[in-house]
Amino acid sequence: MDEILKLVIKRNQERKELTEQDIKRICHIMIQGKRYEEYVEEVMYENECSGDLDTAGKYDGSNLYFYQEGLDRFIMTNYDALPKNLDGTKVDFINFFTLVIIFHEFAHVRQTVMSNFKLNKESQLYAFNDKLHNIKDFYSDNYKIDLTEVNAWALGFLNACEFYHHMPKEIVTPFDMRIYMYYTISKILSSYTVDGEKEKIVAPAERLIIKASDYNLDKIGFNKDKFIDLIYSGENLSLYRKLCMGLPISFDSYAYVNLLGRCNNEGENINLVKKLQHHR
Ligand SMILES: [Zn+2]
Repeated sequence: MDEILKLVIKRNQERKELTEQDIKRICHIMIQGKRYEEYVEEVMYENECSGDLDTAGKYDGSNLYFYQEGLDRFIMTNYDALPKNLDGTKVDFINFFTLVIIFHEFAHVRQTVMSNFKLNKESQLYAFNDKLHNIKDFYSDNYKIDLTEVNAWALGFLNACEFYHHMPKEIVTPFDMRIYMYYTISKILSSYTVDGEKEKIVAPAERLIIKASDYNLDKIGFNKDKFIDLIYSGENLSLYRKLCMGLPISFDSYAYVNLLGRCNNEGENINLVKKLQHHR
């Protein structure tokens, strides 16, 4: 992973965006490091995804794809939301969001690897989640609570944050870091909803079961009770793991994460991943 960090630092220092070759190189370092050779045959870089110009990356079970047009769109949508006086950080910003997409796709590879080890709770969760893909249009209507997407976005952003946390401070200042943390936390919490009256947070996994209850789940072999047992069995996991899996979190934990995204102490360089790993 050091090699990836060195490459991104180099590009940021040169004020250059990560190139097609850089993206492929990062992928190959990850494939080797994580021993994913069996799961990723090729890394392809194409101009656009036919049929969906917004798609920035894709994993089809054997190859990884990245799309220039989709990447540009994803980056610019986020960049346009930034206050304009942050122009100096534009290259860092573009490279951050490129990393988010790379790590997002690798999260899907990891899910596929895990599906071979069905005993693990996380893979069981995705096995349930995947059954709902048999209901027509279910996930196109409920994209935000598809647990494999929740996981891929959380890991995408949190891994990119972790890399940027280790950049030299003259490249990524604590002030810049807060912007990346803010984007990361906003994205993660966007799939959670707040029920203010009951002071309860409704997690993606809970929203999923509410939505899915409208359908005949027996027909697709989805055991609702087992799924509910599974999502409430993660109580002792760290906040990091819960958020990455879309599991229930307490009202206090939600407030804590929200606060981390808004803290205003310019001098302090917060390690978001560590904070979440050491909290429930
Ligand atoms: Zn995805």
